[in-house]
Amino acid sequence: MIEDNKPTALIMIFGATGDLAKRKLFPSIYRLFQKEQINKFAVVGVARRPLSNDEFQANVKDSILTFAGENEKVDEFASHFYYHSHDVSSSESYIQLKEIADRLDSHYQLEGNRIFYLAMAPEFFGTIAEQVKEQGLTDTNGYKRLVIEKPFGHSFESALELNEQIRTAFNEDEIYRIDHYLGKEMVQNIEVIRFANAIFEPLWNSRYISNIQVTSSETLGVEERGRYYEKSGALRDMVQNHILQMVALLAMEPPIRLTTEEIRSEKVRALRSLRPMKKDEVNQYFVRGQYAAGTLNGAQVPGYREEPMVDPDSNTETFVAGKLMIDNFRWAGVPFYIRTGKRMDIKSTKIVVQFKDIPMNLYYKTEETLHPNLLVIHIQPDEGITLLLNAKKTGTNMKSTPVQLSFSNKGTDRINTPEAYERLLYDSMRGDATNFTHWDEVALSWKFVDSISNYWESTKETSFPNYESGTTGPKSADELLEKDGHSWWPVENLDLEGNC
Ligand code: NAD
Repeated sequence: MIEDNKPTALIMIFGATGDLAKRKLFPSIYRLFQKEQINKFAVVGVARRPLSNDEFQANVKDSILTFAGENEKVDEFASHFYYHSHDVSSSESYIQLKEIADRLDSHYQLEGNRIFYLAMAPEFFGTIAEQVKEQGLTDTNGYKRLVIEKPFGHSFESALELNEQIRTAFNEDEIYRIDHYLGKEMVQNIEVIRFANAIFEPLWNSRYISNIQVTSSETLGVEERGRYYEKSGALRDMVQNHILQMVALLAMEPPIRLTTEEIRSEKVRALRSLRPMKKDEVNQYFVRGQYAAGTLNGAQVPGYREEPMVDPDSNTETFVAGKLMIDNFRWAGVPFYIRTGKRMDIKSTKIVVQFKDIPMNLYYKTEETLHPNLLVIHIQPDEGITLLLNAKKTGTNMKSTPVQLSFSNKGTDRINTPEAYERLLYDSMRGDATNFTHWDEVALSWKFVDSISNYWESTKETSFPNYESGTTGPKSADELLEKDGHSWWPVENLDLEGNC
């Protein structure tokens, strides 16, 4: 059941000296505290390094100052933080952690509510889940919830193994698998745009939609994550989770109610409808890329193979583009094109819904053709919606010109737009699992992605590196759409202020 009063919880962050804790988790808890959405809470930071409570609290304050950009009541906030130096595989260490947890529980009147937040390397996830159960940390009068970061496995088999391990200690409804895209304002808005507008839902099908394009491009390269990324690649790092989650939200049927179970079951049905690929079809539907050196914002940047901890002969993809077909009544024949990559020309996540052309164009007599109607959902860094329509070109004799209707979150309440992690942490404390991924979604996404990655791993891509840093990716990604008579809508010219 979702708790609507101010939630209480003891949050144990495993990996509390790491990057995620510092950049996202501490500032998110701080904002919840500052907005008085939580008041009875305590946090135990758990990590390997020896630290005193005072040192840990100083780190927390530092992170608030750096990443939340303010420090009102920061001393009071940091006083809720405690530290436990921990060895993941030592039972003794969990026994000590239980003593701390029990003490804080009664001190802060936390009603036995416990969140185990795993913000560390995935190889430890299974051991931690087993140990917290064995050493009695999960024997509590309140709720116990496991919040778990990506990656959830690196294939269906490994995800299944991990799931079986964590299920020994937590039920499915106690597991909150984070996909931070699901915490983003505009990703959550996909459902509202679709299901709260009479002008879209009737058109949201193969009769009126020509194709849907989902782009998530980064300008960053692999940075210090070479070791992890070499085993992952763009397909596992981005497509299996974030991109397929967005596709599921775009493609799902309207849920009969806005409950966690109903929404998830519609997303699962959408993922089940993804057309599977045979080995010899993979290259027909998907293309891969790897960045070469290039220029980005005026600076020279190295190629992927020159990055630290990357094999100089690496076969790992840093770019993926694909065509997904959803074989159900609503979407038969409508391609969902997806692409994601590192070291692209701009940082942007956008969804473009392209509507079919009208049956007859009265304005076709001029040399200009009509612009297709587009609905653009700006996920990040801009947040908003743009609708592209055709209107009369001022001063001309019945010529048309594309015009934009735009809504930008920046102009209204962007300052209040909560960070994805803030929202997701709050949801996990309230017991609302809607914006977390259910095991069935994880399993289906992995099975789909495995069919591509298994084939790619067995065949070396001889064209790598095949796109220059600072560009829109390899030529093959454009050809993928050209074969169908489509092309990618340029993300930079579909911004909220610009013209198309
Ligand atoms: P990190 O390497 O910065 O931190 C790892 C943490 O784990 C540290 O606190 C370290 O002390 C602890 N740790 C490592 N080995 C330990 C051991 N044997 N015993 C006890 N503690 C140990 O990692 P990160 O960037 O914070 O990421 C953590 C997790 O979150 C990873 O699974 C990552 O994939 C995921 N993630 C991170 C980000 C991000 O923005 N950093 C985003 C999405 C997902």
